This record gives sequence, structure tokens and C-alpha cells, in this order.
Amino acid sequence: MTAAVIVGAGLGGLSAAIHLRLQGRPVTVFEANHSVGGRANVIEREGYRFDTGPSLLNYPWVFEDLFSAAGRRFADYVDLIPVDPSVEFRWPDGVTFSLSSDLKNLREECERLEPGCGPRLIAWMRDAAFKFDTAFGKLVTRNEDNPLKWVGKLSVREMMSMGVWRSLDSELGRFFKNRYIREAFGSYGMYLGGSPFDLPGLFSILAYGELAYGLWLPRGGIYGLVRGIERLARELGVQIHTSTRVASIDSHAGAATGVRLENGEFFPARVVVSNVDLPTTERSLLSQASRKPVEHRMTPGVLTFYWGLRGDEGAYGHHTIFLPRRFRAAFDQLKQGRIPDDLPFYISIASASDPSLAPQGASSMFVLVPTPVISAMPRADWSTIVPEVKARVLSRIGLDPARIAVEEVWTPVEWQRRFGLHDGSAFGAAHTLFQMGPFRAKNYSNQMSGLYFAGAGTTPGTGMPMVVLGGRMVAERIAAHVH
Ligand SMILES: Cc1cc2nc3c(=O)[nH]c(=O)nc-3n(C[C@H](O)[C@H](O)[C@H](O)COP(=O)(O)OP(=O)(O)OC[C@H]3O[C@@H](n4cnc5c(N)ncnc54)[C@H](O)[C@@H]3O)c2cc1C
Repeated sequence: MTAAVIVGAGLGGLSAAIHLRLQGRPVTVFEANHSVGGRANVIEREGYRFDTGPSLLNYPWVFEDLFSAAGRRFADYVDLIPVDPSVEFRWPDGVTFSLSSDLKNLREECERLEPGCGPRLIAWMRDAAFKFDTAFGKLVTRNEDNPLKWVGKLSVREMMSMGVWRSLDSELGRFFKNRYIREAFGSYGMYLGGSPFDLPGLFSILAYGELAYGLWLPRGGIYGLVRGIERLARELGVQIHTSTRVASIDSHAGAATGVRLENGEFFPARVVVSNVDLPTTERSLLSQASRKPVEHRMTPGVLTFYWGLRGDEGAYGHHTIFLPRRFRAAFDQLKQGRIPDDLPFYISIASASDPSLAPQGASSMFVLVPTPVISAMPRADWSTIVPEVKARVLSRIGLDPARIAVEEVWTPVEWQRRFGLHDGSAFGAAHTLFQMGPFRAKNYSNQMSGLYFAGAGTTPGTGMPMVVLGGRMVAERIAAHVH
């Protein structure tokens, strides 16, 4: 069996490594950082443990499938704690809205904001369930390059029901009149590239998927999941080399020949999978002749704070999303290259669900503030932006800065430096209509045979479950091309 080399040990790279190993191939992974996981990494300081990036884990079956493909039980590697109520939304005028997978609680919350909307909540859930099942059953998990064949799998009814020609916000408007419910469900669009006013209505499946399948925290934080996946890969015989940066992916006569490491060593391979953010792979790992210069529309950047707090943070649950007074204006300002005046942001206190993530009686808090990408803020001076944003966050959540015992801050520039994220975009290429399915950057190169891609920039897309599914899809693609 032809051996494979994987550049980058993000979750997509690790998933690809496991599936390729299960095909019987020798698999070697080179990771530039000293730990695996990519954006899903960990900071450990003075007894506080912070997940660096992802904090919301949904679609647990995707991870169960990864382990069962290897004949193992997910639960033997990762212990999932349910988080319910899952997310609370808060607005500056004092309105709150709390989500739960318990339909009775969810219905009560929706009725509190929009009396009489209970039956429409059920109708929305049915509609979103249909979209969700169709998307996952027929679109998301298939390697298909031909747009007509891709949608050709759908019946006319399915096609008409997917809501791709309407925006996410108008799709939600078919069911809910209340602005708070619409803004809350629409804000999920932020993970995929911005605004619920631009993204297709299909993405009502995001809020639905979280409600229907729950929100989870692996014991030990999200990094507990990464450790479980790394253990599985190593047990299967995947060779993982950390602190080993790849300098280039080399080719001869249009075919991949291997990778050159930063220390000058050449590692031959006829199959190379790059898990490095796709536009970064094109720009910094491939020669001029092997790259295909595609302009991707990227998701926003993020400014993230990791605060180890003295004392218990009882005022908030595990996940809280603070939405602004003027919802649409915040998205417009992000698009115009400005950090919104009226800041939307998210806080996660994982120690509320797993106290082992902070010293006894203390809390670990993660704050995520969306920002424009780096190129949209050419004159940004982060040394002034960071304290200014920090003061606004502290004032909105009512936190005394004296309680911060440990602090770490990552700007979009830091995110780019650490993981090679193109333009500092946190989630990779956006999921606009023309960056989805066969329109999204493919998981193989047209320029270099033997070169494949895994991760958020390629199909099916961004988010932990998606990149893990994408790892399986790229392995299937390789199996069809190379014995
Ligand atoms: C702040 C933030 C919050 C998020 N929140 C969530 C969430 O709540 N839920 C969710 O599901 N998803 C979330 N995501 C998205 C999710 O983290 C990503 O979609 C996913 O982890 C990306 O995985 P990937 O396979 O693309 O690899 P990446 O994480 O991009 O990893 C790529 C790896 O390649 C390595 N690398 C780069 N260059 C080289 C080189 N030259 N040589 C060797 N190695 C190299 C990098 O060090 C890195 O380890 C979040 C992302 C961020 C940034």
C-alpha cells in the first residue's frame, strides 16, 4: 500500500491519518507545533486549563463513528458531559434567552419572548430536521465535484425545502416574528462566515443540530477529545512527529514526491495530505507552478482572552453569547473592517461543567470577540485595541479586573502565527453559497497529482465535526485514486 504523509495535526489531519491507516497504509504526520490539535489546542497555567479555540462540541456521532471505524468504543477514550441548558443569549437591554435540548424548556423560553409561538417552534424544528437529514444524508458527506450531480441526488421537494435561495435571517423570519429569537438562531451563522443576512437559509440546521443532538464537553475540556483522537491514531500505528515544520511540498513532472522539512531533510511520499489552512498551503508550501491562486472569501478573525479567575464565576453558565443592541450593524461593521462599536462576543466558562479545569473554587473563562481579518485592518494597533476591547468586555459582563489571576490574549495575528491561518481568519473559508459542496475548494489538487487537502478550508467545511468527516472523505478520495 502506498504510504501517506500528512502535514499538520489539526483535527482534520488526525482524522485523515486514522482513516488512511485503516486502509493499511503507513502514515506519518508532521506537526509544526509541540502539541497536536491545531486550533483545538490547550493552554495550561497555574492550575487553569483553557481550550484555545473550539469550545462548543456538537454532533457527537461523528466522533463515535471515527472510533467505531477503527473497531473501538468512543466512550473508552473520551468521556462526554452533557451541557444543558446549553447556551444563554444576553442583550444590552436585559433580555435573555436560554437554549435547551429539553423541548419543554425550549418552548417555554420561546413563548416567554414570543407568546403563542410554540407551534411555530415545532414547525421550525420539523423543517430544520428535514434540511439537516437531507444535508447530512445526501450532500455534506459525499465527494462530488459536479454541481449538477451533487444537487441531482435531491428530489424536487428536497431541493425546494433546503432554503438555499433565502438568507438565514429570512428563513427564520418564516417561523419567528420576535427579533431576539431570530437573532439568537441567526447568530450561529457567525461560525460559518458572518452574517445571517448573507448566508443561505439552509444553515438553520446549525441551531437545530445543537438543540436536537445536544451540546457536550469532553471531560478535561475540548482537549480531552483531541487527546483521545491522538491516542487512537498512535495506537493504530500512525507516526506523529511534533515540533517538525514542513517547509515545502515537492513535486516532479506534476506529481507529488514528498515533503521537505524545515531542517532540510526530505521525506519522500507519493501521497501528501496538507491539513495546513488551504490558502496558506497554496501560498507558502507549494511552488509557483503547483499552486492554483484562488481568492477565498474568509470568515472573520478573533481576539481571544483566556482568564483564570479567582473565585467562582456564578453569574454565568458554561456558554453565554452577548449580542449587541443593533444586530445587523455589528455584522456590517465587521464586513467594513471595523471591530463593532456595540460588541457581540461570547464567553465560555468550561470549569462550570468540569471543575478540574480550574484550581478549587476558581474559574477558567474564555472570551471570543469577532474581528475583521488582518488585511481588512491594515493599520490595526493591537497594543491599543486589546486593552480597549478588554475594558468593554469587562464592563458588559460586570467583572472586576482584579479577579483575573492569569491572563493570555491571542490577536488574529497571533492565531495566524501559531497555526498558519490565512489572513488570521479563525474558521477558514466562509460558507457562502459558492463556497459550499462542489463549489468549495476541493480536497485534491488539480495541479499536482498525489496532493490532497484536509481541514476547514476544504470540503465539507469548518468546525470540529466537519473536519473529522472531511478526514474520512479525503481518505475515500485517496483510496479511489491510489492503491
Ligand atoms: C477561536 C475559535 C473558536 C472555534 N470554536 C469552535 C467551536 O466551538 N466548535 C467547533 O466545532 N469548531 C470551532 N472552531 C473551528 C474549529 O476549531 C476548526 O474548524 C478545526 O479545529 C480546524 O481543524 P483543521 O483540521 O482545519 O486544522 P487546524 O486546526 O487548522 O490545524 C492545522 C495544523 O497544521 C499545522 N501546521 C501549519 N503549518 C504547518 C507546517 N508548515 N508544517 C507542519 N504543520 C503545520 C498547524 O500548527 C496546525 O496544528 C473554532 C475555531 C477557532 C479559531
